[in-house]
Amino acid sequence: MVKVLKFGGTSVADSKAIQQVAKIVKQTDADRVVVVVSAVGGVTNALLRLSEKAASQDKDYLKDLEAIGKTHSDLIESLMGLTDSNSALILEESIGEIAAVAEGVYLTGELTARIKDKITSFGERLSAAIIGEYFNKTGLETRIKDSRELLITDNNFGKGLVDFEESGARILSYFKDNANRVFILPGFIAATANGEITTLGRGGSDYTAAILAHYLDADELEIWTDVSGMFTANPNLVKQAKSIESISYEEAMELSHFGAKVIFPPTIQPALQKSIPIRIRNTFEPEARGTWIGKSNEQRKKAVRGITYIPDISLVTLEGPGMIGIPGIAKRIFEVLTQADISVALITQASSEHSVCMGIAEADAGLAESELNKAFSQEIRLNLLKPTLVEHDHAIIALVGDLMKSHQGLSGRMFSTLGKNNVNIRAIAQGASERNISAVIARDDVKKALNALHETFFEVKRKQLNLFVVGAGNVGSRFLDLLVQQDSYLKKVLKLQVRVIGLINSRTMVVQEGGIDLKNWSDQLANGTKANLTDFQEKISQLNLRNSVLVDNTANEEVAGIYASLLGKNIAVVTCNKIACSSDYSAYQELTRLASEYQAPFLFETNVGAGLPVIDT
Ligand code: ADP
Ligand code: ASP
Ligand code: MG
Repeated sequence: MVKVLKFGGTSVADSKAIQQVAKIVKQTDADRVVVVVSAVGGVTNALLRLSEKAASQDKDYLKDLEAIGKTHSDLIESLMGLTDSNSALILEESIGEIAAVAEGVYLTGELTARIKDKITSFGERLSAAIIGEYFNKTGLETRIKDSRELLITDNNFGKGLVDFEESGARILSYFKDNANRVFILPGFIAATANGEITTLGRGGSDYTAAILAHYLDADELEIWTDVSGMFTANPNLVKQAKSIESISYEEAMELSHFGAKVIFPPTIQPALQKSIPIRIRNTFEPEARGTWIGKSNEQRKKAVRGITYIPDISLVTLEGPGMIGIPGIAKRIFEVLTQADISVALITQASSEHSVCMGIAEADAGLAESELNKAFSQEIRLNLLKPTLVEHDHAIIALVGDLMKSHQGLSGRMFSTLGKNNVNIRAIAQGASERNISAVIARDDVKKALNALHETFFEVKRKQLNLFVVGAGNVGSRFLDLLVQQDSYLKKVLKLQVRVIGLINSRTMVVQEGGIDLKNWSDQLANGTKANLTDFQEKISQLNLRNSVLVDNTANEEVAGIYASLLGKNIAVVTCNKIACSSDYSAYQELTRLASEYQAPFLFETNVGAGLPVIDT
């Protein structure tokens, strides 16, 4: 049995983590264990920062280099001591080499992708040397092999294209000639046929491991990282996200392409070709099951497997009255963009063919704009097309799942969820595979959209309400006490999780994004900041939480004055304050109009009769 284990940056970030890695490798039950490691956490970024500083003639790069040296020597020191350490010698040599290359960059001010690869390669080279030596010291007889001798790419520095034939032959012959059980190799790095250093792209260590697994016909590829699997959504943004137990290769590929950074997208292909299962596991919680990625398993009922997003997208639109008459326009657009090496994340074309709209990485948008304007200059001059329109600050969110195609109404649920939460949708696309439904939205709405969609598709059980309560007098304080008393009823029977996010009275206010602990709300309010209704109102919009509700427990005219602007932002208003509904009839009409237009509930039954259902009756 052959297993390939890859450990990411955080898994090798300090001596404790590396000890844990050694333990995991020791416990691995296989005849052959091939370990691939990333650079020590943060080192690749530090090396890139250093290169950029040197290129901009900032002498501080020397301090950065010193810090990188210290990170590694501290690691060696605490793992096995510096004396007699082979990796300590390699470290000293490496720092000298980086210094020489960086000095060249400093003097010429020139930093090419080729030099960046050379400098960043030291991250993985050092981690493999140190961890390999440590493995040997702890009794794991380990052979350290430089991946540059096995993985051959073209000279597309920064993201080399692997020459599979050559790499495969080298991998097979190396492992055939070596009887060792445990091997360790640096991830991410490779070489051209001439021996120049290249890399596989950021996050590329996963890919190194997958290529090795492919040629070694591994029984399993294990990706060890800092989370317990691939989650239903990015766990940093969606607190309720859960680890997915099992997922198909295609779904995993789609999720990673659309931003789930936990696995580098090209990793899936080499494993899929040989049906090698991939397991994502947590170095710091090895007992957790993690996520199994393999051949699709049709018995699963869940259609939506994950929700993901790509940040930093620009919308690039070509439109004009003459578009219908221009032959092969889509083809020409793609040719122009392909020539400029720009990839398009999403494309939509209205059936009237009046416009073509694309989602493109923000970094490429400027180039796309100038290339398209150049290619279509004739049509633009003749007013057949308008000049390319570019809008920044967007993101793509996507639902992913193999079985989505056979389920009706998913896109309806997706878009109504977004609409209810006032997330404006700029463009929509559904891939022909129907494994993915994507939408372009404003970047500021990403967190809200992910959470709202996650609630709809994965947490059907309980809806979260985010309250902003104004007034803590007689009515207000009874209301807050009732929320505490009724908490379990609300959760169990009404399936509502009610959180008070903001609280304000005439003197002070307090806002806590995670929810105010209602057991001692009055102390928290008393210790809050000075009350300011305008700031409070702004905070409500700025937090942009889904299912936001303003609860007005005052009899104050100023408070009634803010309803309209909140309803217009799809924020519900619940009030026992008579003023808004009993002043001018036109003011009342305007509020009900806004409530209906923006689908924001406006409830005022407690206006009269102390909560008895008088108005309804
Ligand atoms: P490593 O250094 O081990 O390769 P990465 O940082 O590349 O780790 O990937 C793991 C990280 O990916 C997690 O810590 C998490 O923040 C992020 N991530 C984003 N989306 C997801 C997702 N859907 N599931 C799991 N992790 C995700
Ligand atoms: N160290 C590289 C990076 O940070 C590769 C990897 O960790 O997979 O991008
Ligand atoms: Mg990674």
